[in-house]
Amino acid sequence: IDFIQNLPKAELHAHLNGSIPIPTLLELLNEYESSYDPVNPRYKLSPTEIRVHIDRLQNLDLSSLDGFFGPFVGVYALISTRAATTKITRAVLAQFLDGDSPQCSYLELRTTPKESGEMSRLEYVSAVLEEVEKYPKERAGLIMSLDRRMTPEVMREVVELAKKLKGKGRRVVGIDLCGDPSAGDMDTLESSISLAKDAGLGVTLHIAETKDNPAEESLKLLSYGPNRLGHATFLNEEALAIVLKEKICVELCLSSNLLCKTVSSLDAHHICFYLEHNHPIAICTDDVLPFRNSLQAEYALLMAQPPLGLGLSENEVVRIAQMSMDSTFSRT
Ligand code: IMP
Repeated sequence: IDFIQNLPKAELHAHLNGSIPIPTLLELLNEYESSYDPVNPRYKLSPTEIRVHIDRLQNLDLSSLDGFFGPFVGVYALISTRAATTKITRAVLAQFLDGDSPQCSYLELRTTPKESGEMSRLEYVSAVLEEVEKYPKERAGLIMSLDRRMTPEVMREVVELAKKLKGKGRRVVGIDLCGDPSAGDMDTLESSISLAKDAGLGVTLHIAETKDNPAEESLKLLSYGPNRLGHATFLNEEALAIVLKEKICVELCLSSNLLCKTVSSLDAHHICFYLEHNHPIAICTDDVLPFRNSLQAEYALLMAQPPLGLGLSENEVVRIAQMSMDSTFSRT
């Protein structure tokens, strides 16, 4: 445990609203309940409806995609004020970075800018950034996510916003493509990605997360020249050859993949392929709220003996942690 705790490592794939500590979320739910006015509600969901979503997030039904993405609407109701957004961001940053044994040396947190209740996208991102910037730049950066369900116009608006904020010296380091892998048309993404790259922003894309993501889609996403990839579970040979040739770092979330059943067991996980090819990877948590994991526990999976873990040596794990540090967008 000391070995894992002391290892310099970067968390590069953590979704803000998927990483809220449960006590913080329940505190917000209690506040929402006590100030709820059914005649003039702050948000379209009642406290009872929100509670159902939060319960579902804590006991995920992963038999359908909706089981994973659906309950986030309950979280969005709770964070629809600036004060609530500040509170959850502070709690998530503290969870990863504070204390005697922080989970990581550097956190690249990601979130989807939303028009949430009383806030515009800019106000939402500003509230998040203000908290991120309380840490030195060697410790924390922000990635702005494009949700696959956004229209091309909104995606472009988000990238323009990222560019503007970066131009003003704010701590936006990159953009991400995330959300329901079955949604959206990836043909229209190209101009937003070029805009981000021209602005010097790092680009990471969730890719081939499920069996249903067509091979053509993955090849298209790769043709946009991303700096990193999220999950990359179902890439075909042609796509894998590109990833290896371009040495694109792959963000791997072991527990997330096992719990969502996109991978059947650790020894069948694509991490084995990348390790064999000495390819850059970053071990990440994805969403600690539903998965109840931690970055240290993910690293413990690397070291535990099979079948519980991968049985890697300390030297191998040091090398993996170093790869995460070498793949941050602050270095892009
Ligand atoms: P947010 O962007 O801070 O609101 O974080 C939660 C959001 O992250 C969810 O609503 C999804 O859009 C996205 N997300 C979380 N996990 C995954 C994943 O494994 N694949 C794709 N999107 C995800």
